[in-house]
Amino acid sequence: PLPVVAVVGRPNVGKSTLVNRIIGRREAVVEDVPGVTRDRVTYEASWRGRSFTLVDTGGWDPQATGMALRIAEQAQIAVELADVILFVVDATVGVTDADEAVAQVLRRSGKPVVLAANKVDDQRMELEASALWSLGIGEPMPVSALHGRSSGDLLDAVLDAL
Ligand code: GDP
Ligand code: MG
Repeated sequence: PLPVVAVVGRPNVGKSTLVNRIIGRREAVVEDVPGVTRDRVTYEASWRGRSFTLVDTGGWDPQATGMALRIAEQAQIAVELADVILFVVDATVGVTDADEAVAQVLRRSGKPVVLAANKVDDQRMELEASALWSLGIGEPMPVSALHGRSSGDLLDAVLDAL
């Protein structure tokens, strides 16, 4: 079986956009309205000749009560099935309660986590990304899933963690 990379994070941070960037196709559903992605859609991906299964997570209603708890539950499920977690945070928003809830689950899991500071569309935003050190996950890697900025560096980090 291929190694599994699970993409986790609260709604609207750009998980599905990043999945599309990695697989090189537009199959994951990207929505301006959060919460559209079906639960745990899997894709086969490869980078530098190494193949892996990529899991796009989501599919809960962000307006529902106890959203942070539900997201943490989703993160827990993803952690159990994954070899490496790709944790996506929106650097333009900064750290939210839901991001903290996910980070706590990931830290406790002991699994390798790569932290993507997404929506860093230009160099000016890179300073913002450094705020994500506070999640206690490690170095935030500034990327733009939309424009592909630094997505190769991110994938290198994912492969290193596999
Ligand atoms: P998900 O809910 O985490 O799967 O997020 P989506 O991939 O559906 O993206 C949510 C919104 O953020 C969409 O409007 C995307 O176009 C936008 N988005 C995703 N990545 C980026 C990025 O790198 N830069 C900018 N500016 N917008 C992005
Ligand atoms: Mg999605």
